Amino acid sequence: MIKVAKFGGSSVADAEQFKKVKGIVDADPDRRFVVVSASGRRFAQDNKVTDLLLLVNAHIEYHVDCTALLHEIERRYVDIKEALGLSFPVRERFDDFIDSIHAHSPEFVVSRGEWFTAQLMAEYLEKPFLDARDVIVFHHDGTVDLERTQLRIRDAVQRLGDFVMPGFYGSTVDGSIKLFQRGGGDISGAILARCIDANLYENWTDVSGFLSADPRVVDDPRTIHRITFDEMRELSYMGASVLQEDSIFPVREVGIPIQIKNTNLPEKRGTTISEVAKDGAREHLITGIAGKKDFLAVHVQKAHMSSKVGFVRRALSVFERYGVSVEHIPTGVDSFGVVVSAADVKDNIYAIVHDLQKELEPDSINVVDQLALISVVGRNMSRRAGTSGRVFGVLGEAGINIRMITQSSQEISIIMGVSNADFERAIRCIYDNFVDTEMVDMPRQATLA
Ligand code: ASP
Repeated sequence: MIKVAKFGGSSVADAEQFKKVKGIVDADPDRRFVVVSASGRRFAQDNKVTDLLLLVNAHIEYHVDCTALLHEIERRYVDIKEALGLSFPVRERFDDFIDSIHAHSPEFVVSRGEWFTAQLMAEYLEKPFLDARDVIVFHHDGTVDLERTQLRIRDAVQRLGDFVMPGFYGSTVDGSIKLFQRGGGDISGAILARCIDANLYENWTDVSGFLSADPRVVDDPRTIHRITFDEMRELSYMGASVLQEDSIFPVREVGIPIQIKNTNLPEKRGTTISEVAKDGAREHLITGIAGKKDFLAVHVQKAHMSSKVGFVRRALSVFERYGVSVEHIPTGVDSFGVVVSAADVKDNIYAIVHDLQKELEPDSINVVDQLALISVVGRNMSRRAGTSGRVFGVLGEAGINIRMITQSSQEISIIMGVSNADFERAIRCIYDNFVDTEMVDMPRQATLA
C-alpha cells in the first residue's frame, strides 16, 4: 500500500505542528511520500507565509523596501529549525534568496514558502527533499504535462525512494517556476498520488473532514465519513469546501480515493471521497446539505412555448450576451425560469428583461429576487421513493415556501429555491429531520456513481 500524505499550511505552521506531522508519518510506514504547503497561520490573526511573500512582490513592484518583511518570514523558519534542532542552513539560504530577489520572477518568490517548509520537513522526517521544480512540468498554456511529470516522478522514486516535496509549484519546460492557483498544494499532492499509482491520497488539514452542513447554520453538524466524487462536487459547488476543487480530477480519473484528515485530531475518522461508496453498508439517506443566498430567477411564460423550437436557446443567448452564467433552468410546459446569481446581473437586469421581451415576445416575465438555493445531496436518495416529497413536506409544515425545485440529472441532489429570509431555517429543518438521523441499508453490488 502506498499513501501520499499532503499537509496543508496550518499543519506545518510551526514546530509544534511539525511534531504532529512527524507523529502521523511515523505511525504508518505506507506514508512514504509527503507534500507540504508553506507554513500557514499559527493563530487567528497570524499571516500565512504565502500571503507575506505576495506582499513582498507588491513591495518590489512599487520599489518599496521590504527587508523587514523578508526577515519576518525568515524568522518563522529559523524558529522552526531551532525548536526542532535541525541543521538546514535557513539563514544562509535566506541571504541568498534576498540577495538575488530582484533577479527572480514573482512566482519564484512566492514558491519559496513551500520550498523552505519542505526543506525543513524533509530533514525532520529524515527523508530526501525532492524539488517540485524538477518534476512537476507545466505546458505553456498553464496545464500540467502529466506524461512528462509522471516520467520525472517515477525517475525520482527510483533515485530517492521516499521523499518530501513542496506543493503549489512546478516549472515550465524552460525551467521557470510556475504556481498553481491559491490552495494549489492540494493539486500537487493529487498529481503525485496519480503519478506513483498511490492507493490513497491523504489530505491533512485542520478540520476532521467534510461536514454535512455549514457549522455557522447548524450546531455541530455530523462529519460525512464517506462521500462520492459527484456528491462532493455538488456540495462544494454550493459553497461547502475543504479541498481545492481541481485536486480531484487527477486522482479521480484513475480511481484513487482521497481521505481528508485532521492533523490536530488524527484519531478522527475523517472523510473518504471515492468514486463509489461501499456495498452492503448501512448509510445515511442524505449525505449533506449546502446552499447559497442571493440568487435571482427570471420567469418567462408563453402559451404553447413547448412547441416553439429554439425558444429556450434564444432566452439563454440573451444571458450569454451579458456574460451571465446560468445556474439552473427549471421548466414547465409553457414556462421556464432562469436562475442566476444576483451579483452577476445587478447592473444589467433591466436590459436583460428588455431584450427578453423583445426577442421572445412572451406573455409574461417576472423577476424573483432574494432567492436562496439549497442543495440536498445524497447518492442514496434515488433508491428511496418519496424522499423529495418528504423533504418538501417538512418544509411545508414549517411554513417555508419553496419557490423553485430542480433535481440533478443523476438524481443525487434536489435543489430548492427559498427566500433569503428562510435560508437558515430551511437548512436546519432538513438537517434535523433527515441528515442527522435517517439511515438506509445499501444493497450489495450497487453502483452508485
Ligand atoms: N501556500 C499556498 C496558498 O496559501 C498553496 C497551498 O497552501 O496549498 O495558497
